[in-house]
Amino acid sequence: MDHKGRLRRLQQELSRHRLDSFLVTHAPNIRYLCGFTGSAGVLLVNERGSVFFTDGRYISQAREEVDGRKVAIGRKAPLLAAASWLVTRRKKLARAAGVLGFEAEHMTVLARKQLADVVTPVFRLREAPPLVERLRMLKDAEEIDSIRAAVLLGASLFNRALAAVRPGTKETEVAAELEYAARLAGAQEMSFPTIVAAGPRSALPHGRASAEPIPAEGFVVCDFGVILAGYCSDMTRTVYVGHHTQEARQIYEAVREAQQAAINQVRPGIAVGEVDRAARKTLKRRGLDRYFTHSTGHGVGLEIHEAPRVAAGQTEVLRSGMIITVEPGVYIPGKWGVRIEDVVVVTDQGCEVLTPTSKEFIAID
Ligand code: ZN
Ligand code: ZN
Repeated sequence: MDHKGRLRRLQQELSRHRLDSFLVTHAPNIRYLCGFTGSAGVLLVNERGSVFFTDGRYISQAREEVDGRKVAIGRKAPLLAAASWLVTRRKKLARAAGVLGFEAEHMTVLARKQLADVVTPVFRLREAPPLVERLRMLKDAEEIDSIRAAVLLGASLFNRALAAVRPGTKETEVAAELEYAARLAGAQEMSFPTIVAAGPRSALPHGRASAEPIPAEGFVVCDFGVILAGYCSDMTRTVYVGHHTQEARQIYEAVREAQQAAINQVRPGIAVGEVDRAARKTLKRRGLDRYFTHSTGHGVGLEIHEAPRVAAGQTEVLRSGMIITVEPGVYIPGKWGVRIEDVVVVTDQGCEVLTPTSKEFIAID
């Protein structure tokens, strides 16, 4: 893993934003920059390099995982240890007050106050934009391989879920089959609580598997993902149980068409808002756009939801190496819902759909 290159890119951002030092507190960002996979740690970055702070529980893990950096293990909470260390160093240099950036989206009000108490007046605190998240949008070749492996593992589980889908089976039973198979296949964990939503519950975009049995007729939405070597997968397939009507078939095909229209837009240089628009436009032609109530997709990587957001009006421009999901859906409250989701990597020429699973209409009689 090229932690050095990532750190160098972050350091360039720090000077661009006129930050003397930067505290990285969000665990996935720390992992991205130095390899540490534990939960308690702070990475302090400045123009000269970085120091990783953790506590006694992580001594051996930090020494093993943290790549080529200074590791400081303290009795204090890592955040305050980092802050004291900074203040001591700065005082020795006897310079004017420095600017200390922190990840505003990942710090509690209490931690921020404690931090200010330690560093003021030697440093001025500044809320930094999501600098590391922006770097993480572009995946290197190794990350793309990792995500591809997670996506393939995830996809290999779908048939297991499918075999369990039948009237009378509880949604949680389907999820259990899927999650058990995931662990046996080597997944670290699921990347989010598995969604199995059947019948009228399929109209809930985030219908976590419940104890409800699958009804005799209707759609079943299965949305799930695994974590493999730290990277997440995410896929959705929707199948029909029972004797399907023409209307069910039409709604399924409309979503599939919308998903394909969005995928067809994915290429370097296009704004993510355009990808979203393509899906909505296709649904609008069938009068279904008002039932598409969420965004078209999201970045995926060390976290299940990361930048960019593929949503209406978003101006982030796709670049080769970005990985996003494309997952339009149609939800008719009280009746049914359909969603289809793939993971897509932006390539130099266009894109590659990583999810290998068929999107043909499946009816389970
Ligand atoms: Zn999903
Ligand atoms: Zn998703």
